[in-house]
Amino acid sequence: MSEEKSLNFIEEIIEEDLRTGKHQSILTRFPPEPNGYLHIGHAKSICLNFGLALKYGGKTNLRFDDTNPVTEDTEYVESIKEDVKWLGFNWANEFYASDYFDQLYSFAEQLIEKGLAYVDDSTSEEIATQKGTPTQSGVRNQYANRTIAENLQLFRDMRAGKYKDGEKVLRVKIDMSSPNMHMRDPIIYRIKHAHHHRTGDKWCIYPMYDFAHGQSDSIENITHSICTLEFIPHRPLYEWFIEQLGIFPSKQYEFARLNLNYTVMSKRKLLQLVNEHHVSGWDDPRMPTISGLRRRGYTPESLRDFAERVGIAKRENLIEFSLLEFCVREHLNKIALRRMVVFDPIKVIITNYEEGKTELLSSENNPEDPNGGVRSIPFGREILIEQDDFMENPPKKYFRLAPGQMVRLKSAYIIQCNEIIKNTDGSIQALHCTYIPESKSGQDNSGIHVKGTLHWVHAPAALQVEVREYDRLFQVENPSSEEGDFKSYLNPNSLKVVTGYAEPSIKEAASHDRFQFLRKGYYCLDKDSSSDKLIFNRTVTLKDGWTKK
Ligand code: ATP
Ligand code: MG
Repeated sequence: MSEEKSLNFIEEIIEEDLRTGKHQSILTRFPPEPNGYLHIGHAKSICLNFGLALKYGGKTNLRFDDTNPVTEDTEYVESIKEDVKWLGFNWANEFYASDYFDQLYSFAEQLIEKGLAYVDDSTSEEIATQKGTPTQSGVRNQYANRTIAENLQLFRDMRAGKYKDGEKVLRVKIDMSSPNMHMRDPIIYRIKHAHHHRTGDKWCIYPMYDFAHGQSDSIENITHSICTLEFIPHRPLYEWFIEQLGIFPSKQYEFARLNLNYTVMSKRKLLQLVNEHHVSGWDDPRMPTISGLRRRGYTPESLRDFAERVGIAKRENLIEFSLLEFCVREHLNKIALRRMVVFDPIKVIITNYEEGKTELLSSENNPEDPNGGVRSIPFGREILIEQDDFMENPPKKYFRLAPGQMVRLKSAYIIQCNEIIKNTDGSIQALHCTYIPESKSGQDNSGIHVKGTLHWVHAPAALQVEVREYDRLFQVENPSSEEGDFKSYLNPNSLKVVTGYAEPSIKEAASHDRFQFLRKGYYCLDKDSSSDKLIFNRTVTLKDGWTKK
């Protein structure tokens, strides 16, 4: 099935640039600020930047945009690198905006020398007022008239630590009546006496985002600098700096950020959930972080598939969480090991099966995978099935177990229910059934056809495991757009801990294994597991139960 996929707008631009010889090869970058863990929105950006380079034989840099010393941390740097690698991508270079602090400083002096930058002593409030409004021009203050020599001296004094935080800033002189507020003499350097995670105490002035990001692109010769829509108004400034400094003409292109329903997607908000213990950490399986999704059992393939399906849009929209779940089901169906786990058991005694005897039955690990192999499952006189799979007074067309009715036990035999054994309070203690010895799966010559197949476990061999079932983290589709604190919309039932009775082969589960618990969903081992207590995360249910709700 070869389906010609049409190019997205960035691919069209790249193909044109390569065709006309504007670029011989392309270089993209992924530029996270190391102030939190990456989320699924970043995964979208990673897949886009690395994906384009792979498609067109180019390269991608990983650049940490670390110009904000107060919120940044090496823990975040490490987690970001792990996440990018886990998604399956290799960067050409690992760079840090802070590597360019000397270069950026000299760019600033160049602008001063060209009469294009000045030191301003106003407070941030004064600067904001003087900027005007989108419909009203701003006004320049007296500091804009400082001489080049005076500006150079003051800027050097700022760097030397002569002034306190906020006492002075460096601004570029562009146009105080530009309809674009970003062009009204924006600030490019601020004083901040803070320790930086890489440069230590070398600097007490730091470049603003707009004076670091674009210039970093140019320093690295990035050909296509892809960012999200909110940076459209920054583009004229990006280009103004390139022109005034005469540096490599990187080009900025914007696409719509990914928004997912029933979650939040800003590091600041995710940090609040972590700090205020609404979740167990950045990698809580309910978090939309890459580390959370990984722990939950998502695969890199499923996230890449998701990014591909979402595509790139030029307008903001809200993507359904169900699409992400669809992608992971698609992949897990192909790779997950099938196992039987009973959650809410009822005991079945097979009265015509020899007491004390167990036999080992064989079952495919994955019918979707011809090389998946088989496992053995013990079978004996006492087994457990789901309470849900039995009804004392079933309606018509009920194909599961009921008095007098027959079902197949998956990979085992057909059984028939003969008697219900009750406790004195009326609750069911056990079901007495008989099995059909000629009906063994794979060699069935009983001639009996049944419609229902149930999962089950051999009671004495069953291993008790903890299973963590997750639901949406928020109760509303778009918590960030609701009134009040977004945290008041948290779903109080987003985590349910239940017990499962698993077939014994589950003992060999390893952290990279993916499982389908038959008729239930997809699961993976959680890192909280120990040798005497296995804990599983439910990645996703087998069917989409959410859109119906
Ligand atoms: P947040 O607002 O969540 O903190 P950010 O944009 O501040 O995100 P950065 O570390 O600056 O996070 O982002 C690194 C890259 O990832 C940027 O190029 C940014 O545009 C991109 N990115 C961030 N969030 C999304 C998203 N939701 N969808 C697509 N790309 C995103
Ligand atoms: Mg940011």
